[in-house]
Amino acid sequence: MQRVNIGISHNAAQIITGHGRIKSTLHRLKLSESDQCRCGQPDTVEHIVYDCKEGEVERKELQEKISGEGVAWPCTLEEMAQERTLGHLCKFAEAVIKKREEIERRQSNT
Ligand SMILES: [Zn+2]
Repeated sequence: MQRVNIGISHNAAQIITGHGRIKSTLHRLKLSESDQCRCGQPDTVEHIVYDCKEGEVERKELQEKISGEGVAWPCTLEEMAQERTLGHLCKFAEAVIKKREEIERRQSNT
């Protein structure tokens, strides 16, 4: 068996491809009424990675890790998907998507 798994986690793949639980995609598929993030901005991959307030803490960590690899921040998603930084992007994606899901769950319970 050839090595086909390049080690992108499910959540990271969602971020990189712009699929999954991202409102602009859900909206396009008519699964969500809104294409806005809870913070009022259009919910896109770029918004999650670079802008969203909900990912502030996680982004700071990502920024430090990426800079630590010698890649200047802000870098493009393509630059982040390089082998040496992909792991950091995956961790960021995991943490942010989990956080967003928790917030949504809390909100739908009230
Ligand atoms: Zn947001």
